[in-house]
Amino acid sequence: MIELKNLQKSYFTGDTETQALRDVSLSIAPGEFVAVMGPSGCGKSTLMNILGMIDTPSEGRYAFSGTDIAGFRERQLVELRKKNLGYIFQSFNLIDDLSVEDNIALPLRYLGLDRNQQKVRMREALELVGLEHRARHKPSQLSGGQQQRVAVARAIIVDPKLILADEPTGNLDSKNGDEVMELLHLLNEQGSTILMVTHSEDKAREAKRLVRMLDGRVLSDQSLSDQRDRKPFGGEV
Ligand code: ADP
Repeated sequence: MIELKNLQKSYFTGDTETQALRDVSLSIAPGEFVAVMGPSGCGKSTLMNILGMIDTPSEGRYAFSGTDIAGFRERQLVELRKKNLGYIFQSFNLIDDLSVEDNIALPLRYLGLDRNQQKVRMREALELVGLEHRARHKPSQLSGGQQQRVAVARAIIVDPKLILADEPTGNLDSKNGDEVMELLHLLNEQGSTILMVTHSEDKAREAKRLVRMLDGRVLSDQSLSDQRDRKPFGGEV
């Protein structure tokens, strides 16, 4: 699904060049659950931004679902990412003025579904994250864990090929963090491909594969056996 080959990314600040990514090659197959770890400044965000098509590499190849996206115009990239990518951020990034259901339904605008189809999708997503009874609430009326579940519902509503999660549990206590991880596992079991940046060794070990980065390079790329102690998703608290 994802093929990165000899990816380089340099930033220039005045005369100073920072090589954020140096020769990164990575393949991600459909159905994988990949955790990315590494110290601050090692290039994790840069990698996520390039994978998420909000930044472009300086050099190298990025193929998404077999299509080389180098040279794509901004409009084509927007189209591609709206239909194929779901994002989950550490800080939830919900719109405070919109209700839970309107936040979740936002990405549907780009799919050209009629109102009924939109409603069905929205209900399914709400149900999946166990927040049906919070549909009319505003994000500020929810706990952090609930807000992140809204963000998960928003990320999956277009049925994306790839979910990019940037420290999805970073702002949550351990119980809420575990619930969000359970949701990610559920989505993965249902076929979603997930790439997650995390600072937590424990959370990373829950993935099926662990990529460690250092100084803009892939330091190690390890397959993890799934030894998780499976708990059913607990739903609302
Ligand atoms: P991480 O997410 O692992 O903390 P980043 O991808 O944010 O790392 O950054 C990698 C390197 O690139 C760092 O040295 C950082 O300072 C540099 N960098 C990131 N974004 C920019 C930018 N817009 N301009 C200049 N340097 C940047």
